[in-house]
Formats: sequence, C-alpha cells, structure tokens
Amino acid sequence: MTITGSCMCGGITYAIEADSYLAALCHCTDCQKVIDPALLPISQRRRKNQKINQNQWTGGAFTSNAVVPRTSFKVTKGKPIEKPESPIHLMQTGTPTTYDVTGASGKINKHFFCSTCGSGLYTELEVMPDNTVVKAGGLDGGEANLRGKIDVEFYVKDRPSYLAAVEGAKQEPMFG
Ligand SMILES: [Zn+2]
Ligand SMILES: [Zn+2]
Repeated sequence: MTITGSCMCGGITYAIEADSYLAALCHCTDCQKVIDPALLPISQRRRKNQKINQNQWTGGAFTSNAVVPRTSFKVTKGKPIEKPESPIHLMQTGTPTTYDVTGASGKINKHFFCSTCGSGLYTELEVMPDNTVVKAGGLDGGEANLRGKIDVEFYVKDRPSYLAAVEGAKQEPMFG
C-alpha cells in the first residue's frame, strides 16, 4: 500500500510503498531539541560535523517514527539536494533541507526538514543504511497514530519521568 505524508506548508510531500513498518519512539536528547539550524549564524552552519545540541527536530519530549525500507521511500514534491561541502543547505521552497549530526555511535545522522515551515520530515542514519526513519507526525490519513501499536522505544534512559513505558514495546536503554 502507499502511505503518504507532507510537511506543514505542503511544499514537500513523500510516499512510502510498504504494507508494514517498524513503529519506534525515540527519547534521545537530539530528538527533543528545538532550535532550527537555519537560525544559527552562517559560521556555525558551515562547521562540519559540529557537535552541538541545537538540532531542529521536534521541541517535544520524543519523536514517533515509522522505520521503512529506504527503497520504499521517495520524495514526491520537492527534491533533496546534497552539497557535500556544507552540512546545512538552505534550498528553495519545496526542497528538503539536510542537517548532519554526529550520533552517539560516531556515525552521521542526516536529517531532512522543510526550510520553509520547519517541519521535520525524515532521517537517514548511517547506522541503518537500509532504512529511512520517517517522522510519524507528517503522515497523512491518520497514519500518524502508527496503527495504535509501538514496536520499540529507543533511548528510554532519557525518557522524561512523567512518561510511562508503552506496554508491549521493546525497551532499549539506548539505540538497539
Ligand atoms: Zn513545509
Ligand atoms: Zn532520537
């Protein structure tokens, strides 16, 4: 089946050809951060592989994600553009912008977001080369509910104390 999604302004849409996916919550501190890298000074944006904690993701307590095969995912409106010499690329409307963060593994997590409205869209983790991690909030047609079932929670060591573990979800202290 085709699952579709979009950013808040509608400038970027995407489609996933998959009948099922891994539903994952992530409580890592990167997933909680709020500052949009587009707002950082240019000098900071261009510093390669910088270790900062100001990553534009959700500003929420965690992210909810549909982990899908990378081959099943495609951007259908707005096309990602890569410029390897810079970790942050401000592109025209309708093009996902990417931002690289070095994860706890030492590998790169590449985040794609809309530079117009700021919606986080999806992440490509170097440690998961065969998958795309789609931010569930962007999914259309009620799919953001992740079909009411969470398979796994990552980084539960960083989960806020006011949130309980999801019943039946595998609990990973960090990432797998
Ligand atoms: Zn947008
Ligand atoms: Zn995370």
